[in-house]
Amino acid sequence: MSLYQEQSLKIYNTLSGQKETFTPIEKGHVGMYVCGPTVYSNVHLGNVRTFMSFDMVFRYLKHLGYKVRYVRNITDAGHLENDADVGEDKITKKARLEAIEPMEVVQRYTVDFHNTLNTFNFLPPSIEPTATGHIIEQIELVKTIIENGYGYIANGSVYFDVHKFNETNDYGKLSKRKLEDLIHNTRILDGQTDKRNPQDFALWKKAEPQHIMRWPSPWSDGFPGWHLECTAMSTKYLGDQFDIHGGGMDLKFPHHECEIAQNEAAKGQSPVNYWMHANMLELNGQRMSKSTGNIVNPAELLSGKNEFFSKAYSPSVIRFFNAQSSYRSVLDLTNDGLLASEKGFHRLMDAINILEELQPGTASSMDVAAWKQHCYDAMNDDFNSPVLIAHLFEAVKLINQMKEGKSSLTREDLDLFKNTLHSFTFDILGLVNTAVTNTGTDKLAAAVELLIDLRQQARANKDFALSDKIRDQLAEKGIQLNDGKDGTTFSF
Ligand code: AMP
Ligand code: ZN
Repeated sequence: MSLYQEQSLKIYNTLSGQKETFTPIEKGHVGMYVCGPTVYSNVHLGNVRTFMSFDMVFRYLKHLGYKVRYVRNITDAGHLENDADVGEDKITKKARLEAIEPMEVVQRYTVDFHNTLNTFNFLPPSIEPTATGHIIEQIELVKTIIENGYGYIANGSVYFDVHKFNETNDYGKLSKRKLEDLIHNTRILDGQTDKRNPQDFALWKKAEPQHIMRWPSPWSDGFPGWHLECTAMSTKYLGDQFDIHGGGMDLKFPHHECEIAQNEAAKGQSPVNYWMHANMLELNGQRMSKSTGNIVNPAELLSGKNEFFSKAYSPSVIRFFNAQSSYRSVLDLTNDGLLASEKGFHRLMDAINILEELQPGTASSMDVAAWKQHCYDAMNDDFNSPVLIAHLFEAVKLINQMKEGKSSLTREDLDLFKNTLHSFTFDILGLVNTAVTNTGTDKLAAAVELLIDLRQQARANKDFALSDKIRDQLAEKGIQLNDGKDGTTFSF
């Protein structure tokens, strides 16, 4: 029997606004699509948070024994400035500014994206398709939408007729908007005069002469509208109807609303059973966003080279920080918050390390099976990682009592306890045991200890150039020194 048959997972579905029991279309299999990055600049921590939330979802579904096909795309064409239907392609703009090929931009930032995700111990998706690799599929979709009467051609571009669609379907059902309200609130932008109505969106755009990313089509040499790629790629790999579609909250409208409209118009059915939206990471109470420049790059946090933070933080501390909030809550990135998470993370790792040395007793002070089920209950409740972490800290408390001889577990319970703790901490939350305690006998640990002592001496002698050099050069090698009240610890 697989775990998913014993556990009842509930997922908050944006479409219904409720937590629903998760039942996949095909027993034992899950199809999940998550909108990936537009690769025109380095990913920031906000992007990382969204992908990390879905990495946790992927990990938990796999842990439950599902065979998961996880598709996360790369947007390498068609995404215009301001997420609009007019303006320059984000990738082309970057290529123009740097005088390089658009595909050089794509390659550079795809590599950065993968490196960043590897640093944070992400599992790779099953398929990572690109928009440019699926132009033919997108053209076919546009043809079908036109044939079905929901797309119209204007000056070589093709638009989706939102008003016509809304006569028989419900445009706005995901983002809880009404077309009438949209009519009052849509700004008419220059260059949108080809549209019958400002609410219509582009399926295909005729390329201006300077637009270099272009493909032939029945309507013009041009490029696909931004929303089309996800419809083409999700249904190609997961079928016309699939289980889960995820992305950041900001993509609900228009991007995901338009995906639903395109699918319903082309195939006559809503594509997704469970829509999941991850909430935003904020910095100084404002959404972290490339367009406003209110961003922190992962590398700055990992090296500590950012005036906003007092020190460097390890990737697992950032994962832990993220998991301490529900994926559906806004999370504010602060130095104090990270310091607290670092402390909590080290407490958890120290306890897990101590557990390795503990011997079984003759009786158990805790009902391990009940505790284990509480951990599952937390994750089954729409991936409630903060509640899970609270249960992990009950385990920490028990371990510390066991160490002092005040509590014990029988051999059988001890094994179950250890396995469960490891599964939730490492397999599901994706944390890595990087905490090396000061009592470690590891040779590298001893060498770093020596460097910490030398740095202490340098500081005492006010030789800050040397003390900073030790810290920075260790950080470059991936070894973070963490200055605290009780002295300096390190992690890598
Ligand atoms: P983009 O590369 O801009 O298309 O964004 C990639 C992903 O990151 C999308 O799912 C966005 O919703 C998500 N995202 C962008 N900004 C933030 C943020 N501040 N917090 C969380 N997720 C974000
Ligand atoms: Zn998408």
